[in-house]
Amino acid sequence: MNDRVTGIVIRETEVKESDAIITVYTADHGQLSLYARGLRKVTSRNAYACQLFDCSEFLLDYNPGKDVQLLKSAVLKREYMGIRADYDRLALASVVIEIISQLQDDSLYDLLETTLEKLDQDEEAFTAFSVFVVQILNILGISPVVDECVLCGNTKGIETISIADGGFICHECNKSVHLRSMDVDFLRKFRIINKASFEVYDRLASSGLNDYQLSALLVEFLCTHSGMRLRSWRAVEGAVK
Ligand SMILES: [Zn+2]
Repeated sequence: MNDRVTGIVIRETEVKESDAIITVYTADHGQLSLYARGLRKVTSRNAYACQLFDCSEFLLDYNPGKDVQLLKSAVLKREYMGIRADYDRLALASVVIEIISQLQDDSLYDLLETTLEKLDQDEEAFTAFSVFVVQILNILGISPVVDECVLCGNTKGIETISIADGGFICHECNKSVHLRSMDVDFLRKFRIINKASFEVYDRLASSGLNDYQLSALLVEFLCTHSGMRLRSWRAVEGAVK
């Protein structure tokens, strides 16, 4: 059955000769693997619409019983030039698609598209990335505790963040946890970002949230509590150091 789907290319795997299998995250079917004949030939008419991060419309022979669908044609709807042209944005977008592709969740298309749009256009790439990670933590049910001390419930004297314990730690509890105390302003920003979403994104601008350290802590939180390993994060670390 012919089917037209809109999706974002999140992976390309070369296969024999000049063929490729592309993985597309679609609004209707979640992740789909598409077999693209001759995609890597210079004459391929579909190549332009099948590059990583492209948002395209794919015509395919959809067979629900098969793992890989046959791609017939692809038309580019939107390409994220801002991501392609900037190393930091490209590195962050790569982490986004690595996270998305590790989750077996078919309902993340809107989140993926919004995140790529912000990474493409918005001046604050780290803010956009952090908001994305916060949504993932929320979906997985592993959001950090940022309204009180995760160990005793104390709302006063918050001193640091324990990734292992899952959130804020107060001065009293830190006497036994022994973590380095953190800057009050950083703790405040960590609390704000953990309550953020793309619905209120415009209000976050110029709040000092465009901070690599915030993103790095959220990624560490995600990896620790989900068991995920993110190889692509190293490129972000490398760009900052
Ligand atoms: Zn405490």
